[in-house]
Amino acid sequence: MTAYDLLSLNVVCLAGGVGGAKLADGLARVLPPENLTVIVNTGDDFRHLGLTICPDLDTVMYTLGGVANPETGWGRAGESWRTMGEVGRLGGPDWFNLGDLDLATHLTRTDGLDAGETLTAVTRRLCAGFGISPAVLPMSDQPAPTLIETMTGEILPFQVWFVRERWQPAVRRVVLPEDARATTAVIRALEAADVVIIAPSNPFVSIEPILNVYPIRALLEDVPRAVVAVSPIIAGQAVKGPAAKMMSEMGMEPSAAAVAACYGHLIDGFVYDSRDTGMTAEDGLALLCADTLMTGAAERERLAREVLAFAGNLVG
Ligand code: GDP
Ligand code: CA
Repeated sequence: MTAYDLLSLNVVCLAGGVGGAKLADGLARVLPPENLTVIVNTGDDFRHLGLTICPDLDTVMYTLGGVANPETGWGRAGESWRTMGEVGRLGGPDWFNLGDLDLATHLTRTDGLDAGETLTAVTRRLCAGFGISPAVLPMSDQPAPTLIETMTGEILPFQVWFVRERWQPAVRRVVLPEDARATTAVIRALEAADVVIIAPSNPFVSIEPILNVYPIRALLEDVPRAVVAVSPIIAGQAVKGPAAKMMSEMGMEPSAAAVAACYGHLIDGFVYDSRDTGMTAEDGLALLCADTLMTGAAERERLAREVLAFAGNLVG
């Protein structure tokens, strides 16, 4: 495909938070906004201090809107913490940090939801506020909470395990809801997609919760869509967060190859990092070796171009 043809592809990106947002941002820098839809995990969402918090949607929005905190990967740049400081002083729950600017998002979202707006509609409004042009869609408008079953058999809400317990309790399995349903907007976007890109997000707690939402997995299995995943594991390690640790705990070798095996026949192409050697293709899976570490905007854009060119060649 020529570069011009690539820009006319309809692209859907499945994303969690930090890793997902970075590739989504790269794609947004390359593609015309009407050709990009980002479908975001809402399995991490929870109620806290009376507010509906959607960590992955927020990370994607702040990153695409250019207001993300580059050090943490979550939250906003130039943030202040006066409210949380006072919540802690008053004896309120302060294990989940919400900055003063960040709080404006949660207040506006919760107000919209309380007034009967869908999460999809509130997210569209928030995106407009951050000057974001590509469509950013929650995977579902209903709560679809991810739970973590630890080795001791305890079942923890995702954020309790991830933030309060700092993802230290060993994971036996991730428990996903059986009745999660995709929104009409998500289904339409996937039906219109030429290419689906699975971002280098955590396969178990960012991507699997999206695939678990009916009928997203079935739509991805439909040919002739090209489905391409980017490895979040580089040289046996996660760039950030628990992906590699979880793989070991759940009996997998933490490696790019194991990530590809997790996605199995769902994917047509897999992008692994140039720091990983010896990855070989199985069952006709197309492979692309690339520098996948997105340290800045230029790297995000370069990786997005490479992934698009790779995916473009696989469109049947
Ligand atoms: P979370 O919801 O904020 O935890 O974010 P994601 O699930 O979207 O992203 C976490 C995953 O992104 C981790 O497994 C990281 O290894 C991966 N990741 C973060 N930054 C990069 C990067 O620059 N390149 C690659 N290949 N993976 C990354
Ligand atoms: Ca997340």
